[in-house]
Parts: sequence; C-alpha cells; structure tokens
Amino acid sequence: MSQTIASILASQHNLIQAAAEALPHQFSQCTYLLGPVRQAVYLCRTCAEPRGICSACSIACHPDHEQLELFPKRAFRCDCPTAALAHPCTLHQPSSSSALTAMTSAGLMKERANAENAYGQNFRGLFCRCARPYDAQQERETMIQCLACEDWFHESCLNLRERPSSREPTPDPAEGAEGGADDAASEASSSGLPPPLLSAADYDALVCVACVRSIPTLRRYAGTHGALMVVRGGPEESWRVIGREADTLDVEVQLDAPENESTTGDKRALSPDSADAPAAKKARVSPEPTPSRPCLAPLVNPLAQRILDGSASGPEAAVSQSDGEPSIQGAGDVFLTDGWQERWCRCDSCLPSLQSRPYLLEEEETYEPPEDPDSGLNLEELGLRALSRLPHDQAIDGIRAFNALRDDLMSHLRPFAQEGREVTEADIRAFFDARTQANP
Ligand SMILES: [Zn+2]
Ligand SMILES: [Zn+2]
Ligand SMILES: [Zn+2]
Ligand SMILES: [Zn+2]
Ligand SMILES: [Zn+2]
Ligand SMILES: [Zn+2]
Repeated sequence: MSQTIASILASQHNLIQAAAEALPHQFSQCTYLLGPVRQAVYLCRTCAEPRGICSACSIACHPDHEQLELFPKRAFRCDCPTAALAHPCTLHQPSSSSALTAMTSAGLMKERANAENAYGQNFRGLFCRCARPYDAQQERETMIQCLACEDWFHESCLNLRERPSSREPTPDPAEGAEGGADDAASEASSSGLPPPLLSAADYDALVCVACVRSIPTLRRYAGTHGALMVVRGGPEESWRVIGREADTLDVEVQLDAPENESTTGDKRALSPDSADAPAAKKARVSPEPTPSRPCLAPLVNPLAQRILDGSASGPEAAVSQSDGEPSIQGAGDVFLTDGWQERWCRCDSCLPSLQSRPYLLEEEETYEPPEDPDSGLNLEELGLRALSRLPHDQAIDGIRAFNALRDDLMSHLRPFAQEGREVTEADIRAFFDARTQANP
C-alpha cells in the first residue's frame, strides 16, 4: 500500500506545483468572449462530452471533475458555456436578449455549440498515431506535440527511443519488430529512461509526418539542414539523424550548388517547380510581370523524399531498395532546429504553403489568463481544486491518505492566504519534504 501512497504523493506534488506555477494568474474569466484563440484546453472526463474547456472553467466550473490537460490548441473557443456541455458554466452566462442562445435538456440557457472548433482524437482521450489513451501513472515516455496538428506523439513512435517495456504491447503489427531488446532488470532498477536520440535541446519544433506531407514547402525541406529526420538503413541498423549540420549530404549540396546556379551562396532545388507548386497557383500569387525571385530552397534530400513518397504510411514507412539505391526506413517526421522560421525560402513557389499557416513564419501567441494582483489569496482555492482533480478511483487507504494530506496542506497554506503572503514553490516543497520524512 505504501507504493500506492507514494505514487499519490508524487502526483499530488505535481498538481500542487502546477497550481503554484499558475499562481500569478486569475481564473475568474472564461475565454469564451475572446472567440477562437490558441489556449490551454482541458478535456473533462467526468462530463464525457468530447469538448474542451478553458483553464478558468477547468478550475471554476468543473472543480470536482476528472480532467486531462490537452495543452494549447489553436483557434479554440471554450465549450463550457455552450450547449455542447450539459454541465453549467459558472463564469459565462449568455445575455438573455441574445437570439443565439440554446437550451440544454436540463433547461439551462447556454451559448450555441461552437461550430468552428476542431476536435481531433485528443478530445476522445487518444493521443499519437498509435491512438493510445494517456495514463499519467503508466506513461514513462515524454510526449511531443506536433507544431501543426497539435496532437501528441510518443518518443518511441517518433523512433527516438525503444518503447519502454512497462507499457502495454502495441496493437500495431508494424511495430512488433522493434522492442525485444528491453533489459527488464535495468528498467526495474532505474526510474529514468536512457536519453532519446534527439532531446528537447536538439530541436525547436516537431512536425509529424502527416503534417509534413500536407505542407509542400516543409516537405521539400525535410531532411535538409535544420529539418532533421530520423532514419535507418534497415531493420538491423540503428536509427540515426539526418539533416544535422555536419551531414555528408549537406556537403554534397554545397559541392553541387555551383553547377546549378552561378550566384554564389544560392542553393537551388533540382526541380524548383515540382508538383507541390502548380503554375496556376503561382501565377495567382504574384500577378506582377516582374521576374520572380529565385528559389533559395536547398536541394531536396533524396532519402527524405523517398520516405515521404513511400506508399506505406505507418510509423516505419519502409522504402524498398530500387535502382541500387540503399534501402531506407523512417517515419517521416521532421524536427526543426532553432531559427527555422527564418530559414524558409520565400520565393513565389515556397511562400504560399507557409503563409497559409502563419505559425510556420512567426511564433504565434498563446492566450494566458490575466495577471492576478491578489494571487496569494487564491492559493488555497487553487490548491484545493488541483487536489480535487486527482483520480477518484483510488483504494480506501489512498483516499484516507489523500484527505489527511489535503487537510495538512490547507492548514499549512491558510496563513499565507489569510495574510496575503506570496507562496513560493519552496514553501510548497518544504511542506512535502517535511511530510515525506514524517510518512516514509
Ligand atoms: Zn471557459
Ligand atoms: Zn466537467
Ligand atoms: Zn465555464
Ligand atoms: Zn504513440
Ligand atoms: Zn501533425
Ligand atoms: Zn523557393
């Protein structure tokens, strides 16, 4: 049972830390009136509708409900005050004169359901191309969000590491070949996993293969300098990264460039107007008869293109050997390194597919709740609500431990709230440290 309590303490620690980090913000305003914005979105598992609520509603309107943070979603409008969710919203009421309101089955006046929000599989609690549910207690891998579709991917599904053995076997037969090499003994003794092939410091943004295929200019850049891809020569080989600075392929590009382009420094793609930039589209974009800018996109990486062209669409699109070329395997995901927004060619054929997705050209804004001048006063409330979001299906002992911990924590925090004192992370850490020593 101590194992259970230890894991409860650990998850409570995370929740309190999350609450402490959220402290400088106030959670009294639903974002509904802002319309669709990029913001942290929460899935309420208790309400069970596949909809999303803003961070203020997650705290104020669904305090006792089990929730899952989906993290930022682009162009999302809070669903809490709409008829799509039966649960009442305590932060936003539709104005009684509005003709756009709707009535829920319980007779509650609410805004009409949002028609513009996109609800991917995350809103059904499923993540990654392996479509697994997320379980905070079980998941050992870091998950990485795709910049474009904003779904989340397991490191192992991105071929950045072996799948940790503690997880359920994957239902995908294509992935059955890997794994196997897990060392159960070392896994059991070590709380952490070995570092992934690419860690967070190695790149700035991930774009999953489905999104790479749908963005012509990004697809062209895949595997070139700063648009890393994870590939291997066959099932027996280990995964490696292409597109790094020192890549031999980049050297080849440098050597080839002068043959194609007399201007020094200009790197030109072998087929600048390939299928991804039809002539008609190009003409519409630049009606002026002036000579168009030369394309400065790097030479395409043939290995990357073969992976992206491959008909297989699974996590390991295998490209068979042809014409004496080496065989190559890769999922096709692209990891963009720092400064990637500045590196795109902005010629008439490269720019359009970037312009239609502004987040590819400059960093986008993500809504944050306004600063709260009285943040210290909200802590008790925040702490309580964060704690109350714990899964409710714990064993009786766990619940008892949880209640005792909550009472202790609240008496620890009450003076801060009463005196309006700032609570630091250290204060909260001290509480948990003292408690852990008292109840090892
Ligand atoms: Zn809201
Ligand atoms: Zn709810
Ligand atoms: Zn609400
Ligand atoms: Zn996965
Ligand atoms: Zn994606
Ligand atoms: Zn170009």
